[in-house]
Amino acid sequence: MIKTVQLEKRFGDLTVLKGIDVEIGKGEVIAVIGPSGTGKSTFLRCLNLLEEPSGGKIFIDGVDILDKNADVPKVRQKMGMVFQSFNLFHHLSVLDNLTIGPCKLLGRDRSEAERKAIELLKMVGLAEKAASFADELSGGQKQRVAIARCLSMDPEVILFDEPTSALDPTMVSEVLAVIRRLAKEGMTMVIVTHEMDFARDVASRIFYMDEGGIYEEGPPRQIFETPQREKTRAFVNRV
Ligand code: ADP
Ligand code: MG
Repeated sequence: MIKTVQLEKRFGDLTVLKGIDVEIGKGEVIAVIGPSGTGKSTFLRCLNLLEEPSGGKIFIDGVDILDKNADVPKVRQKMGMVFQSFNLFHHLSVLDNLTIGPCKLLGRDRSEAERKAIELLKMVGLAEKAASFADELSGGQKQRVAIARCLSMDPEVILFDEPTSALDPTMVSEVLAVIRRLAKEGMTMVIVTHEMDFARDVASRIFYMDEGGIYEEGPPRQIFETPQREKTRAFVNRV
């Protein structure tokens, strides 16, 4: 579903991604871990072209998305993204946050979009907040709405960049519960996270990032119990 070949990203003289080769299959849940500043966010942002890669290739469903003829808006639509800071539309109701994309970008009619929005709000446990403004919600509620909004666009893949890092500890589990549920339902996801227990039990594979790339990857048991390389070992012992 996602394949990168020698993916590179430089910011001026700083090379953040030094040639990443990965393949992520449909239904896989990848947890991306590693020290801060190792390019985890940059990697995600390159995947959905929020950052322009400096080199290499990215294929989504076999389509070379860096090709100049690629339909970039369509590719982006396949990949939802959930940010640490929620990025909801604060001046809109929760319901409108979930219908604006489907109506404006997918051409859904309003009633159909609303029906789906309510269904998604139920799924994240927030149906009773449909008429509230985004501003009136707690952090955990905002993030659950952000996930529902992402799902309203029928993504094939969801990229999460530290979805619980901005939350009060009491609200982390409600957000993780929604992500766990999506994993069970077979959603393909790439999740940058510092929640190691969560990474361990939700992920099919862990990418440990360091030294400008994926320094070690493998099933959770390998990464957390028998890491093969020195920096991975040091990191998992530290956290
Ligand atoms: P992580 O998410 O693992 O903490 P990032 O991907 O945010 O790491 O950043 C990796 C490196 O790239 C850092 O050194 C950061 O300062 C640098 N960086 C990220 N975005 C930019 C940018 N837009 N311009 C310049 N440098 C950047
Ligand atoms: Mg980051």
